[in-house]
Amino acid sequence: MSSNNILRKVTGDSCYKGSYNMNITYGCSHGCIYCYGVSILSNMRNIRHYAGGSANTGVPKDNLSSILDIQLQQIKKKPVYIRLSTMSDPFQPRLIEQGITQSLFRIFDKHEVRVYILTKGIPNEEIIYLMTKQPHKYYYTATCANISEERWKLFEPGTSSPNLRIQMAQTLKEYGVKVWVDLDPIIPGYDDTEDAMQNTLEKCRMHGIQNIMAAFLFLRTTIKGNMKKSLHPDIYRRIERFYEHGEIAYLEPEKRQGKILNPPLAYQSEKLILLDQLASAKGLSLSICRKKNGSAAIKSRIDLCSSSPLFNS
Ligand code: SF4
Repeated sequence: MSSNNILRKVTGDSCYKGSYNMNITYGCSHGCIYCYGVSILSNMRNIRHYAGGSANTGVPKDNLSSILDIQLQQIKKKPVYIRLSTMSDPFQPRLIEQGITQSLFRIFDKHEVRVYILTKGIPNEEIIYLMTKQPHKYYYTATCANISEERWKLFEPGTSSPNLRIQMAQTLKEYGVKVWVDLDPIIPGYDDTEDAMQNTLEKCRMHGIQNIMAAFLFLRTTIKGNMKKSLHPDIYRRIERFYEHGEIAYLEPEKRQGKILNPPLAYQSEKLILLDQLASAKGLSLSICRKKNGSAAIKSRIDLCSSSPLFNS
């Protein structure tokens, strides 16, 4: 990636082939202890502006919006599909305070783009205004595996509260933005008890959310290390137990990271069937990430996520 490049084209056999990934930062201040980014960055919580070269050669923040503007002008095929953000979060408080995320949304506003947003944060008024002004351009996924406050503070200490995330999804939906709530990552023993699933789904129903996605926590070697360091040993042990006879779920690019574990297939299926039943009883539709839990979803006859909301709406 060069310093004149903030969008990275997705290639290979990815579900998102042909779209562009855009991460505003290296690192993320939300500090989730299960973060995938810690598999790649040694100091994930230390955010550095992102846009090119290596982790140490960030572009000054004022340049990011012009880099995006120029790159969007250069891409011939329209609309340009953008996934924001795949290994960071666009609504980290510092990015909003510094006006960086807003400046990028102003550029989206000018161009023919479709932007798929994945977040545990909350956009500010200007970003909400820009999204609701042209709602057909935006696809908003609030990730929230559990609305429990205790679970939030334990695993995702720097993120916005789960309640706020779901409320924000409702607000955007009311203005015509397509929204999802993604129960990801489901931490076994915490997020997949019947009570936890009922509470989270009920919150979604009350806020008018209809589309739910879900995926279990992938236990990568690096994530295991970070969780072990951050949690009380009893809590860590309780989670690790679910993976002891787990399914090995390699994804091509991550092979170098050693084993990537899912809970055992039968366990995933049992829980996904229950989640599907609870969701249907509330009139919600559930789909499962084919990359992460595709085998369990097929076994349980639950809908797969159809590759991407971006390409199927
Ligand atoms: S919000 Fe996402 S990128 Fe940021 S720390 Fe949490 S899991 Fe990692």
